[in-house]
Amino acid sequence: MADAQMAEAETFAFQAEINQLLSLIINTFYSNKEIFLRELISNSSDALDKIRFESLTDKSKLDGQPELFIRLVPDKVNKTLSIIDSGIGMTKADLVNNLGTIARSGTKEFMEALQAGADVSMIGQFGVGFYSAYLVAEKVIVTTKHNDDEQYIWESQAGGSFTVTRDVDGEQLGRGTKITLFLKEDQLEYLEERKIKDLVKKHSEFISYPIYLWTEKTTEKEISDDEDDEPKKEHEGDVEEVDEEKEKEKGKKKKIKEVSHEWQLINKQKPIWLRKSEEITKDEYASFYKSLTNDWEDHLAVKHFSVEGQLEFKAILFVPKRAPFDLFDTRKKMNNIKLYVRRVFIMDNCEEIIPEYLSFVKGVVDSDDLPLNISREMLQQNKILKVIRKNLVKKCIEMFNEIAENKDDYNKFYEAFSKNLKLGIHEDSQNRSKLADLLRYYSTKSGDELTSLKDYVTRMKEGQKDIYYITGESKKAVENSPFLERLKKKGYEVIYMVDAIDEYAVGQLKEYEGKKLVSATKEGLKLEDETEEEKKKKEEKKQSFESLCKVIKDILGDRVEKVVISDRIVDSPCVLVTGEYGWTANMERIMKAQALRDSSMGSYMSSKKTMEINPDNGIVEELRKRAEVDKNDKSVKDLVLLLFETALLTSGFSLDDPNTFASRIHRMLKLGLSIDEDEGGEDADMPALEEDATEESKMEEVD
Ligand code: ADP
Repeated sequence: MADAQMAEAETFAFQAEINQLLSLIINTFYSNKEIFLRELISNSSDALDKIRFESLTDKSKLDGQPELFIRLVPDKVNKTLSIIDSGIGMTKADLVNNLGTIARSGTKEFMEALQAGADVSMIGQFGVGFYSAYLVAEKVIVTTKHNDDEQYIWESQAGGSFTVTRDVDGEQLGRGTKITLFLKEDQLEYLEERKIKDLVKKHSEFISYPIYLWTEKTTEKEISDDEDDEPKKEHEGDVEEVDEEKEKEKGKKKKIKEVSHEWQLINKQKPIWLRKSEEITKDEYASFYKSLTNDWEDHLAVKHFSVEGQLEFKAILFVPKRAPFDLFDTRKKMNNIKLYVRRVFIMDNCEEIIPEYLSFVKGVVDSDDLPLNISREMLQQNKILKVIRKNLVKKCIEMFNEIAENKDDYNKFYEAFSKNLKLGIHEDSQNRSKLADLLRYYSTKSGDELTSLKDYVTRMKEGQKDIYYITGESKKAVENSPFLERLKKKGYEVIYMVDAIDEYAVGQLKEYEGKKLVSATKEGLKLEDETEEEKKKKEEKKQSFESLCKVIKDILGDRVEKVVISDRIVDSPCVLVTGEYGWTANMERIMKAQALRDSSMGSYMSSKKTMEINPDNGIVEELRKRAEVDKNDKSVKDLVLLLFETALLTSGFSLDDPNTFASRIHRMLKLGLSIDEDEGGEDADMPALEEDATEESKMEEVD
């Protein structure tokens, strides 16, 4: 593009969403503007991490600038604040893409969050922290040098566009990035040394690179008329008293002001994880957590530990108070554990270090044993890493159990991360039973509080062998389900599993403390009969309803596998249960909702339904009578179909053909209202089965 002589500015338009974000940042009033500095320092730290990592395998990468640092330069004359780092820098393409033309997924989410009242300090979590510069600056200039490209200048006053120019004769950085903020008139406080130091202490204390502040020192010097300037500072202490004596004697001196500049180191860099946990305050952990994660709230829990023995590492793990906005965003491989090797940052996206279901846990791991120049490929089969991973999972579970000691905290935790625990149950067979202890559910007996499986077991009735549960769309949808009638009557507690992922989790869990988890909606639910008498009665019922079962099966055909006498309903006429190893109605619903599912799967996995009828129900009894008189009775046919369709709904299935169902209901209404069938023009094309059901009086009786 621009040649060496005449570097021409190329103009680019900001991507539409970024543009919107910029005007929101510029035009909305936010009081918490100071976070811009934390964001820019954090970007610098990331850039330094990147070059340090590259240099582990290729030392020459540091040639352009061997030192790794962050420098802050306030310039009161020009009203600018510059943040300079010797990080990886950006190529021209990086500049164009990263700072303006490609919007991160978080851009839109962040704007939505802002509009919903979120604080601007959340910006870093959404991956658009750079733009926070415009909270305090009217113009920003980014000068940057990447090893693979020349030095470039990015410049923008927002307003829709930015320019990129090759930096031909500016001061050369060697490598890294300098961000110069031209501060707005009302933001000049960020030029004050005190202010900058406070901010770094508050938000960036744990940055593991030295942060230097360019400080101005005005010293008053006294020189006697005759004496030449002698740098007193150099001899410290030892001559002080003598000097005083002298001064008293002479008394005749000239004062001059001398302005000097120096780089002052303003952050401690000893990593917090190397310190003893007893000596670290809660506030220190909180501020470390915030600097690590960009979170604006404190952590919910922390675990700081070291593992010693044949393998040594130190770690701090945190549980946040909330789930991030993109917790299960599959586009983003998430991992929030920063891996260090002997204090050198290696990477923060090592997938092997923690299983996916724990991706919400944040923290650092510092290993003494891994080689410094470890590559991504090596990490994949590394034995040391496997041991680290195992330990991290163990410690995470310990930490969750600690959270569980406080009910309020645990509720918060569970609301945010129960899906992760359930995913863990599904995926992590080794820790399955430990994770099961952490599950909480509503149940027929839990009231407004969640209950654990452990507590369920303590409440089990004498003689109760299994743990009963029901899956469904919501608590409301399951709590009055016909499937629970008998269980409730017998006083058995039933757990409500109403999270889609419960279906998957319970499919893997199968049992808890040696007790089988039994679905109230599937075959295989066997409730023992209390007495011999009851058994006999049931046997009699079975016999007298056997022929009705056959009639119903004939009418329903392939819609059901079989028709049997139910053991689980008390009031309802019938339910549809599914096979013990097949999908439940709820699972069928979940699978249907998955847009990308292969539709061929449905046919063989989808639930095989068994219709269970209740011999004690009036409708069923009436059906039996009519079928006995004439099994081809049209009203029987019609009623059976209606019962089947209603049972689909109460059992949690969906209707394939709601119109036919509606027509049947409408017809019933008409019968109830004594409206003559022929008058209804709109029902002219009623389904075939209804067309020949003419014995209206019989239908009415049932109603
Ligand atoms: P995030 O840092 O969360 O990725 P930002 O909006 O803060 O989002 O920055 C966008 C991108 O610009 C970064 O991902 C990085 O690639 C680049 N960038 C920003 N600041 C620097 C810097 N100081 N040095 C190198 N690259 C940087």
